[in-house]
Amino acid sequence: MKCSQFLISTLRESPYDAVISSHQLMMRSGMIRKLGNGLYSYMPLGLRSLRKVEKIIREELDAAGLLEMKPTVIQPGELWKESGRWNTMGDEMLKPQNRGGQDMVVSPTAEEAFTALIRDGLSSYKQLPIIAYQINTKYRDEIRPRYGVMRGREFTMMDAYSFDADQKSLDESYDKCAAAYRRIFKRLGLKTISVKADTGAMGGSGSEEFMVESEVGDDTLLLCPECDYAANVEKAACKTEVPLNSEGKPQVKTDNSIEEVATPNVFSIEDMEKFFNEKSTTFLKALIYKVYNCAVDLSKTEFYKNAKTVTEGGQTYIPESYFCVLIRGDLDVNETKLAAELKASGAELAGDEDVLKYSGAPHGFVGPVGIKIPVIADLSTVDMHDCIAGAGKEGFHIKHVEPGRDFTPFMTVDVRTCKEGDKCPVCGGTFYTKKGNELGHIFKLGDKYTKSMHVTYLDQSGKPVTPVMGCYGIGVDRTLASIIEGHHDDNGIIWTMSTAPFHVAVVPIKYDGAMKEAADKLYAELTSKGIEVLLDDRNERPGVKFADADLIGYPVRVVIGDKNLPNVEVKLRSSDKAELIPLESAGEKIAAIVNDELAKLNA
Ligand code: ATP
Ligand code: MG
Repeated sequence: MKCSQFLISTLRESPYDAVISSHQLMMRSGMIRKLGNGLYSYMPLGLRSLRKVEKIIREELDAAGLLEMKPTVIQPGELWKESGRWNTMGDEMLKPQNRGGQDMVVSPTAEEAFTALIRDGLSSYKQLPIIAYQINTKYRDEIRPRYGVMRGREFTMMDAYSFDADQKSLDESYDKCAAAYRRIFKRLGLKTISVKADTGAMGGSGSEEFMVESEVGDDTLLLCPECDYAANVEKAACKTEVPLNSEGKPQVKTDNSIEEVATPNVFSIEDMEKFFNEKSTTFLKALIYKVYNCAVDLSKTEFYKNAKTVTEGGQTYIPESYFCVLIRGDLDVNETKLAAELKASGAELAGDEDVLKYSGAPHGFVGPVGIKIPVIADLSTVDMHDCIAGAGKEGFHIKHVEPGRDFTPFMTVDVRTCKEGDKCPVCGGTFYTKKGNELGHIFKLGDKYTKSMHVTYLDQSGKPVTPVMGCYGIGVDRTLASIIEGHHDDNGIIWTMSTAPFHVAVVPIKYDGAMKEAADKLYAELTSKGIEVLLDDRNERPGVKFADADLIGYPVRVVIGDKNLPNVEVKLRSSDKAELIPLESAGEKIAAIVNDELAKLNA
């Protein structure tokens, strides 16, 4: 490709809203342009790299036996009502109506579409397993799109869905996809950290996130130095310590009955520590949470035994419910874990009015004793004794609280936010943290969609059976941005050979006379060898051409100047050293550099 026939439009300054390197460099190099908030368009240069990421993903998935399809991006809302996600997906799902007033969805993910498409042709066990995928546009109305294509509203995702006759077959499909993912990321030149999690609460039995370490990562990872435990802070578990009293000894049961203490100016945990002269590990922190679409059966609780429920896609839930969440005073509640335990679509701290309404006390004086709404106790409160808690009325706390005696939790589960310094649940090692970005995700779904959407196949004896599913996603744009995030310097991008928009830039100091002749010859020779070359035939100062080549980040730069001819100067973007080689042998040598590097990544 010659520059004069291409569209290179680099910027000297990065836009004010670009705060991370990949966003700045993608904008400055002219790979992408912004059309609106969270809406980035790929220009010809950027699209070449995006397509390369897609190609590598496609090649590896095809090699693993997955089948590519292309469902529509706009999907009937009916499908989402069938699966039960029409109301629970939240505001990220864009739901336009067509001219006939029909509810539609701009696909944020595609479990429903794939389930419906596979359902229609599925009859026999002989057709299974099926793993189908698409590389297609997604839209999520992200509340805070940021970092360019790292978190956009419209983006490209590879999403795959497996359909298996039984759990054992699902395990095999899952392992196959996991192996393909490892090859994909290796070929892209990305080092990923594998974060495994048991997703028992969601009806599956396993998941793995593929993260890249990044200072600007949206996720915080907790890692164990002693074993390979790695978890997203949103889901991480840790060992529960024995709760200690203020002398540092295990707390002991008390026979004293509850005693009310007037505490008019005590609101926070710090206030309590001062007032009672006790450590926060002896306090029961009680918080009122508002929970959306809780699908845990609450009919056995006094408070919700007659609550109005909604049944959708075979799942019954209460659209809005309130809980008193109890945790040791020095710890914090993790809302993601809480929502997962309650099989809910979300959980948030209740507003002041609701706190008063459901606990009888304003924030700071909420307590578990006598409260009407169900109590969810964190595991950290097991073995706590002789505690201090809010009294459930303004201006008072209570002492000598005995869990089990003075209140009974509806559920005792792990909802704490784990952090650096906590102990690994597997081996007891001490966690350290890293920031990371999720590039891909694999997940055993079980029969959530096949059941609600009534998919069956006939087994060997002719009996209808519900297949089990897995789902697998890779964010293509985020992966591309992460390559840049991990491979750049002050001057620009340093592409991996497998994802560079062009392998080689040929830069004549002036596109004229002997230099033009040499440049054309090398360009023709490399192109004929299958090397992707950008020939900078622009009538620009050499300094401008060099700066652009560094910014765009072609892995190999060849400078052709009349002082050096018949030698040309070859420099790798990743190195400071340049080498003079005869024009005669340059084509061969450069092709070998490119092909060797590609072979290394593909090995
Ligand atoms: P996140 O926690 O970052 O919002 P997610 O859990 O919503 O991610 P999935 O639903 O698992 O993401 O989607 C699969 C992949 O799609 C993610 O691993 C990520 O690479 C990509 N992805 C998700 N949301 C976005 C987005 N807004 N912009 C770009 N890529 C995205
Ligand atoms: Mg998300």
